[in-house]
Amino acid sequence: MNIGPYKLSSIITSTFALDGGAMFGVIPKTMWSKATEVDDLNRIKMVTRTLLLESADRKILIDTGNGDKWSAKMKEIFKIETAAYILPASLALHGIDVEDITDVICTHLHFDHVGGNTRLAGDEIVPTFPRARHWIQEENWNLAKHPHAKDRASYLAENWKVLAENGLLEILRSERELFDGLRLELVHGHTAGQQLPVISDGTNTLMYGGDLFPLKAHIPLPWVMAYDNEPLRSIAEKQRILPGLLEQDAIIFFEHDPHTIACKLSATEKGIVGAENIDI
Ligand SMILES: [Zn+2]
Repeated sequence: MNIGPYKLSSIITSTFALDGGAMFGVIPKTMWSKATEVDDLNRIKMVTRTLLLESADRKILIDTGNGDKWSAKMKEIFKIETAAYILPASLALHGIDVEDITDVICTHLHFDHVGGNTRLAGDEIVPTFPRARHWIQEENWNLAKHPHAKDRASYLAENWKVLAENGLLEILRSERELFDGLRLELVHGHTAGQQLPVISDGTNTLMYGGDLFPLKAHIPLPWVMAYDNEPLRSIAEKQRILPGLLEQDAIIFFEHDPHTIACKLSATEKGIVGAENIDI
């Protein structure tokens, strides 16, 4: 798929699993278990899905997944499987070397979004993309450095400390057009300072759903994660964003949905829901 100056490609960087109850908040299991399969530990299957944007002068990644710096214990808790999905190897299939990546847009600094930013070289943690600028929002950066108890376990300094030390972090302070045809929309309900890239050429528009729309099932307003720090704010953000996306016949890209890469929207008497699936 092409939008404006960009060729878009989706790349799965891991599979993992999270508690189904936590993924769907107040929605009863009798309902959410129809939307997704569940294992005997109540976990649902998820993926981390990176979006690669290639233009004449940039090669941009949006989020980098869980990475592979995991202990056996953590891999078991989250059922993390990365061996079949190493990001540098996937990029090589697109003819891209890690040194070619010019920019990494980090929606937020939770480990399942930025784990691939760094990698182990022997015992040492090093940047995976040594020439890339890694874009994050200041509000999220401040929270990551001083997380509160609720999502402390999701902010791991191993995913950004070495980037800061090497001058590879770019701290943003607002919503803005970052590059030609790529703007950042800020949302705060999941965690403060989450930035969702919106790619548009005026005719075709795609929003990277991040953790506002992790799965296709999260489009209806009450389907909000218990992981969110401010769930009512997430609902208000969906209420603000969805009508505009519907009006533009835009696509939402799902970072965590194992079955659906992206979809369009439709209006029903129950509100705006996910419609036609789109392959990217
Ligand atoms: Zn998150």
